[in-house]
Amino acid sequence: MVARIIPVDPFDLVIFGGTGDLARRKILPGLYRRLADGQMPPEARVVGAARSEIDDAGFRELVREALVEFIPDDVLDAETMDRFLALLHYVQIDAVGETGWNELKQQMRPGVVHVFYFSVGPSLFGPIAERLKHRGIADSDSRIVVEKPFGKDLASARELNESLACHFDETQIYRIDHYLGKETVQNLMAVRFGNMLFEPLWNSQYVDHIQITVAETVGVGGRGEYYDRSGAMRDMVQNHLLQLLCLIAMEPPARYDSDAVRDEKLKVIRALDAVAPDDIVRGQYAEGPDGPGYLEDVGNPRSRTECFLAMRLGVSNWRWAGTPFYLRTGKRLKARASEIAIVFKEAPHSIFDVPRGRHSNILSIRLQPNEGMQLGVTIKEPGPGGMRLIDVPLDMSFAEALGEQAEDIPDAYERLIMDVIRGNQTLFMRGDEVEAAWAWTDPVIAGWEARGHVPSRYDQGSSGPDDALMLLHRDGRRWREIRP
Ligand code: NAD
Repeated sequence: MVARIIPVDPFDLVIFGGTGDLARRKILPGLYRRLADGQMPPEARVVGAARSEIDDAGFRELVREALVEFIPDDVLDAETMDRFLALLHYVQIDAVGETGWNELKQQMRPGVVHVFYFSVGPSLFGPIAERLKHRGIADSDSRIVVEKPFGKDLASARELNESLACHFDETQIYRIDHYLGKETVQNLMAVRFGNMLFEPLWNSQYVDHIQITVAETVGVGGRGEYYDRSGAMRDMVQNHLLQLLCLIAMEPPARYDSDAVRDEKLKVIRALDAVAPDDIVRGQYAEGPDGPGYLEDVGNPRSRTECFLAMRLGVSNWRWAGTPFYLRTGKRLKARASEIAIVFKEAPHSIFDVPRGRHSNILSIRLQPNEGMQLGVTIKEPGPGGMRLIDVPLDMSFAEALGEQAEDIPDAYERLIMDVIRGNQTLFMRGDEVEAAWAWTDPVIAGWEARGHVPSRYDQGSSGPDDALMLLHRDGRRWREIRP
């Protein structure tokens, strides 16, 4: 089966922060792949706008090096590289000053889609939005893309929203959460709403609990100072994990369109319970044979910021009352693995002579690595040994079912950028969603700060602090293994 690629309309894409890490690692390599696949039209133009004192040739060289570094050799090809580099331009600009804006305006062509990607820190969102609008560079058809972090609390998120809303309508604003751009996340919606099989069971009557895990093996790396001001709650849970929870918990939208989907997600966030202190576990990795501990990594021996967080969450509505959602994310854990697991209840009565509590169906949705889905079902163990039951996975991974097509699953960033060009906001967070997520997050953080909570230590390469295991044990459940 060969994927049908429909090219998007011609566009001018300006990347503020075009020389930065995110542009070099994700945005530009993603665009290259879209060009290679024939989705990005040859009339497209990409303008890097940043502080570095370079010209078009310097920018092209920088991008060439980035492509060589971040795209596998067997995908990179000289002819496509030349075609891609020819589409690139550069404007040296000061986001908070006056230089470069006239030059940028001259780069914008009439009659094509205009997208401005703010791949810069959030303090520059307002100043850039204002200059784009006041200098007549952006108009009411232009789109802007903003990166995380979208605020550090409700007040700052509101401020950011207002600073953008002064110049752009909500329909023009694309707040990126790259977790929503993953193939499996969209497939989760396809499986839920495209089949009769799952949706009738998708509620507290049949679902025992849900686990969402985003485990990393890396530490805080060079981002120590930023991370220590943020922590896992702000960096991962408020955005990525809550967004995943929303997609699982939301009611079926009437249509697959941006406002219908986002309205349903918003209702879930508003139905989230406050989290009791006993339902939260916070941790920091200790110093170990594999490297320094969190405190050394961030250079702050008294830090109380968590780089591991596990919590038990309730969604108070008719569908989910009584079904806990367990969320877990952390750094320097035993494997890099992101997974959502819907754990169904056991059959109400066993006609077989087997102990209870052993078999239940689990739908696991794997986001990384190896995107795919599995449904665990109970069957008879083959052979003459009588009626013995075993659980086997029904593999819904793309690789087997879709063959070659699955090998070319675009990276989340590629997909999301193409969605911006197509004007599809479904996989982007709306302003009210972000504010609602912060309105839930703020009191949780304020609670542990008021209690002076000190994160537990955990071993590098482990599954996190022991208290996190207890969070499920005391409910008679256990976490799924973190597997690469
Ligand atoms: P970076 O520090 O590597 O790059 C910053 C870019 O902004 C550079 O191109 C710089 O020239 C430009 N810049 C800074 N101040 C400017 C000014 N006054 N005028 C014009 N240009 C200016 O940062 P990054 O890692 O690329 O991150 C960019 C944004 O994306 C940040 O908000 C970050 O939180 C977010 N983000 C980054 C990643 C990542 O993996 N790097 C992931 C998610 C979100």
